[in-house]
Amino acid sequence: MNKSVKKIVLILTLIILLPALLFTAFEINSLNESEETIKEIYTNQLEAILFSVNQYSEDMVSSWRSALNTMVNDETALQNLSSRADSFLNINKSIQSIFFADSLNPVTVSGISLFNNYFDPVKILSQNSDKIRRLHSYQQAGYYKIEPLKNDDSSTVLITLLNDPHKKKNICGIIINSRQFIREVLSQKLKSISGEEFNITCTNKKNNELIYSVFNLDGQEIKLKKDLWLLPDYELGILLRGTSIESIISGRTTTNLLLISLLTLILIAGVFVVFRNIRREVELAQIKSDFVSNVSHELRTPLALISMFAETLEMGRARTEEKKQEYYSIISSEASRLSRIVNKILSFSKIEAGRREYNVAAVDLNSVVEEVFSTYQFHLQNNGFVFSLNMNEKIPEIKADSEAISEALINLIDNAVKYSRDKKEIHISTGFENTRAFVEVKDCGIGISEENQKKIFDKFYRVSEGLVHSTKGTGLGLTLVKHIMEAHQGEVTVKSKNGEGSRFRLVFPAFK
Ligand code: ADP
Repeated sequence: MNKSVKKIVLILTLIILLPALLFTAFEINSLNESEETIKEIYTNQLEAILFSVNQYSEDMVSSWRSALNTMVNDETALQNLSSRADSFLNINKSIQSIFFADSLNPVTVSGISLFNNYFDPVKILSQNSDKIRRLHSYQQAGYYKIEPLKNDDSSTVLITLLNDPHKKKNICGIIINSRQFIREVLSQKLKSISGEEFNITCTNKKNNELIYSVFNLDGQEIKLKKDLWLLPDYELGILLRGTSIESIISGRTTTNLLLISLLTLILIAGVFVVFRNIRREVELAQIKSDFVSNVSHELRTPLALISMFAETLEMGRARTEEKKQEYYSIISSEASRLSRIVNKILSFSKIEAGRREYNVAAVDLNSVVEEVFSTYQFHLQNNGFVFSLNMNEKIPEIKADSEAISEALINLIDNAVKYSRDKKEIHISTGFENTRAFVEVKDCGIGISEENQKKIFDKFYRVSEGLVHSTKGTGLGLTLVKHIMEAHQGEVTVKSKNGEGSRFRLVFPAFK
């Protein structure tokens, strides 16, 4: 690789690619962190939802407490407490029974006939005297707490304190049917806050039995569980419907990773394109400088020969008439070589400037070829070439600028001469390719490798390996040929093999 190209690669890598790759690495790393944060936010949101369910159930029981408090404070109600309590129980179906007691020790439970037969409040109160004492201290601070006490499998005892002025019924027990409470009281709330997005469940912690689920679980795993404050044996669960947080996050991660990779790929592709363009420019600059030195060299040789032989003739050093003739012909052929080179350069600069014009007319290709051949015959002979001209008389007229075609053909013959070594043979012929007329120049010279065949039509391009280097040239000949053929809506094709010679063809479109 060229030194300046290496430098460009280094600069591009340092300025664009390296930061881009570092950025990608950083992004991928921070992606994980932000996914963690999102997960945390989601979890917090789920926790908040479960918190509100707990809050709601406490509010529910608090409202029962208020109703019962009013009951024990109301003198008239107190007289028929039993029937008032009955109707309270009738309204609130999930409450199995309620009881009131006056103090802790000795426990004298007011004889309300609401207790279940198997339920012994005295025992429960005495077993949980610590908790009841704590309720008292809360009450002194002005706060009425509800404390779940012992519960069997199906029911839960909630104890709270009332404000009984007679101090007879200041401990209140509400025994609820846990399942019924969940299914009838809590379920409404669970339904309303779960919306369409979440599914909230309630399960028995002991046996994992699902007591209630807003939507069908369908085997989905419950992601977050929290105790139900008032029912210690039960817990609330929450999950996203249809999809899980993990799959949302992993979906996001995949999308983000894909986007980052795509961005990196685009960046790499961009860098590659920039690199290619710069490399082409660098190569072109190199080729141009080679061109200048090639042209100078090409001009210098014929000029030196012309001036040398002209001087010899001028000084009268050519003794015989034969020698003189030889020198004259050298001067003439070198002068025409010079003019060919100059014409080539002028022609190229016209093409580059878009000023080349073609005078198109109906042309007999055979006669153009014949004319060029006859001018060149002598030159070929002089250079020791075996040559032949084979013309297909049947080819139709073509529409072309005969001068331009001659120029293209001369360039091909010139190259055939220049790039032939030991086997000096040139065969020119005309013919048909499908329905299109062509003229071809075939040599047995050094040939062109497959890879170089693609490049030889580029401006200034010269094959730089092997013997070619010692042959003078501008790298413009085939560029001109290609341009001329394109202007005629035709094409120039090449068939060649290294060391075995080449065949160039000028193919013209069918004459309409
Ligand atoms: P140049 O002035 O170098 O001949 P051209 O554009 O005519 O420029 O040709 C480009 C290159 O293609 C040449 O440098 C040579 O390497 C290769 N080339 C062209 N014609 C032939 C041929 N007949 N045989 C072998 N190589 C050829």
